[in-house]
Amino acid sequence: MHSFDFVCLGAGGGPVETDLSAYLLKPASSSWEDGIIAVEAGSGIGALRNILSSTRQAFHDLQTSPNPHESHEMLASRLYSYIQTFLISHSHLDHVLSLVLSAGSLPQPPPLHNSPVKRRRIVGTRQVLDDLATMIFSDRIWPNLVSWSTEPSVPDFLYLYEPIEPHTGSSDEISSDGLDSTLRYHPISSMVSVLAMPISHGLCRSSHAHAPSGTYNSSAFFIRNVVTHKQFLFFGDVEPDSLAANPSTKHVWRVAASLITSTLPSGLKALDSIFIECSWPTTRGDKELYGHLNPQHLLHEMKVLASEVCRLQRAQQIQSPTSKPTTEELTPTPQPNNGEKPPYFYGFIKQQRRRTVTKRQSRSNAADCNASDVSIPTSSSVAIPASNVDVPIHPDPTSIKGSLKGVKLYVMHFKAPMELAAGIEHGKLSQHITSEFRALAEKEELGLEVIAMEQGMRVSI
Ligand SMILES: [Zn+2]
Ligand SMILES: [Zn+2]
Repeated sequence: MHSFDFVCLGAGGGPVETDLSAYLLKPASSSWEDGIIAVEAGSGIGALRNILSSTRQAFHDLQTSPNPHESHEMLASRLYSYIQTFLISHSHLDHVLSLVLSAGSLPQPPPLHNSPVKRRRIVGTRQVLDDLATMIFSDRIWPNLVSWSTEPSVPDFLYLYEPIEPHTGSSDEISSDGLDSTLRYHPISSMVSVLAMPISHGLCRSSHAHAPSGTYNSSAFFIRNVVTHKQFLFFGDVEPDSLAANPSTKHVWRVAASLITSTLPSGLKALDSIFIECSWPTTRGDKELYGHLNPQHLLHEMKVLASEVCRLQRAQQIQSPTSKPTTEELTPTPQPNNGEKPPYFYGFIKQQRRRTVTKRQSRSNAADCNASDVSIPTSSSVAIPASNVDVPIHPDPTSIKGSLKGVKLYVMHFKAPMELAAGIEHGKLSQHITSEFRALAEKEELGLEVIAMEQGMRVSI
């Protein structure tokens, strides 16, 4: 049994406005009508209408039977109105356009947490929400329809800002195995919680009150089903750590590796699905990336993750002599659901328990995982400054082959390069970039399964 249903409304990064970054998420055990989490909101009702007009397969399990008089556009609007929460990685237009355009038009969402507040929530880091509040929902670019307060006294505010505290991955927050109990997951529905981590998305050159110059941050989200404890990792736009002024993706890989090497009571990996951008094809050099990845850099990031996985498996192997997990140790930590504003809660299994749980798995995996061979991509079109590459170093490095076996990597956020139209037919860009990355990944034999995200695709997680 899977834990999430995840439908892609748009897998592009512009400039095609009908295919911008946007995903609809629900727990597998609930219906779309119960409430949807929008992960990014670049494309919206228009993209949904286009998807529904060609097939309804992505939403074959809608509970409400379709009205024969309901047009594709009406059905798309109805479906979009089931969104209770928008989870936004950063405030670039290709991630928020439909959130803004639809904000004054949607009917009330299904009730969330049995809350008397009937407003949709916009969830993101304080910086993302500040950007939306001061620059877009400002009564200038768009009417101010969003409040910071849960007070229902001002009915004109249709939406509610809900900031989440990001986990920065600094050394005082993170333990040696990458998943400290201080990690805070923020509940965004009765069944879903999220851990946000900042990632670098290039430089902010202009300097003003709400966007100081320096690194422009996007967010990576660990999204967790609080019942099954299954998680997946979703990246907003991200640049290579090796080029970033403030490299931060390495902290995300550390947490991800900890989850990849953990086994749930169901026997499944705690994390086996990663959604990440690869905006450009291999022909884009470092100076033209503008805060995004190309296949060579994505490969390097995957090798850092693979190295972290190997490091943990080795540590677990050394640490665990013989003991087997007890039934009590395999029981997940109960998670609270305290109504509208549940308190923060923590990692899915306490560290000590989780280490025990992973012993059996680590013994089988570690045999074909001989630590780190993280080197700079060898493609002639990209030169990464070695001085800025921060990767784990291990004794006896020979190979990371097979260390990401069982992990699915969903590639997304393709930026249509009009000047490269020759050789890349319309609509095939996703396949072109993904094939380029797959070829590089297969050469390294990491064991990854690589999948191109496409508009209308439904993924079971
Ligand atoms: Zn983008
Ligand atoms: Zn962006």
